[in-house]
Amino acid sequence: MEIKNAEFVTTIVDIKNLSKDYKNQVAFVGRSNAGKSTLINYLCNNSKLARTSKTPGLTKNVNIFSVNKNSFYIVDLPGYGYHQAGKQDEERWSTLLENFLTQSEDLKCVFALMDLRVKPNDDDRQMLKFCNYYCIPFVVLATKADKTKKLEREKLATDLAHSIGLARANVIITSSVDKIGKNEILTKLEQFLD
Ligand code: GDP
Repeated sequence: MEIKNAEFVTTIVDIKNLSKDYKNQVAFVGRSNAGKSTLINYLCNNSKLARTSKTPGLTKNVNIFSVNKNSFYIVDLPGYGYHQAGKQDEERWSTLLENFLTQSEDLKCVFALMDLRVKPNDDDRQMLKFCNYYCIPFVVLATKADKTKKLEREKLATDLAHSIGLARANVIITSSVDKIGKNEILTKLEQFLD
């Protein structure tokens, strides 16, 4: 698969407003600052598509992007676990995620982003638990691989997978800076959309 075209469609604050017209949804979730916006831009060959920020925790809304003329939709969920967010914000996030997973009419898969160098935390585990519970296929995208030594990457990815109870095959090593992982992600995406 190739992404030839990607356009911003809308931002929603309440998942109730997610239109049923968006067929073939593919969600991107992850801890704030994991590199989600940058990765979406890398996949779509458009550095300005999703807003990227050096300040974590800025995106609170759900952004929808149409890809390849409505062949599928990227649903960019807000980042979680921003350390300055209050408990209320955290609860709001998990409610939003659960509402999305239960109410999305045509969710094909979730791409769960985790920094390759950072140990998964309870929020990361909770997020995967939700996916398992609601039977949503997912794959982990281990981000920012360029910040690690090439020879260490395999071990880091295996350790990451095992620490969240997954097989190594469920983790894709990525870097938006060194442009690593796009083909593997798009191949997976194609399988999920089939
Ligand atoms: P988000 O909060 O998950 O959407 O994260 P962003 O995409 O805004 O990225 C957070 C920070 O990490 C920014 O400073 C990015 O430039 C940086 N970043 C994102 N992806 C990569 C990557 O692959 N490699 C490196 N070195 N930095 C990255």
